Amino acid sequence: MKKDVSDTVMDRLNIDRGVRDLIRQMWEHDCETKASCEGHGVKPAYVLLSQSGDGWFEKNAHLYGLRRALNGSCCESRVVGNVCGVCGAGIRGNSVYRGRIVQNPVAFESDVTEVSF
Ligand SMILES: [Zn+2]
Repeated sequence: MKKDVSDTVMDRLNIDRGVRDLIRQMWEHDCETKASCEGHGVKPAYVLLSQSGDGWFEKNAHLYGLRRALNGSCCESRVVGNVCGVCGAGIRGNSVYRGRIVQNPVAFESDVTEVSF
């Protein structure tokens, strides 16, 4: 994936606005993402990760409100593309992270440290 992170590229790839900051960060860390969603109604946000790059996302996903869907005995029994058709966890070297997206958690933390009295 090229590191051109303009909104035009994001529009062309149909990347939801609610996950764009995260996806940009992931690409900066050489992650390869195959699909993502900002979450709609009761459906949580998710990111389908095929290459973890430098490992930044695994370490920081929880800051963005996302947790890795763990594989169970159901996985591989009903395959839908890169995910388990039963539980939705990533298979064949892919990982699915789900949750409620936290916007700019890292930026928020640095804002807090800059506050002075
Ligand atoms: Zn499964």
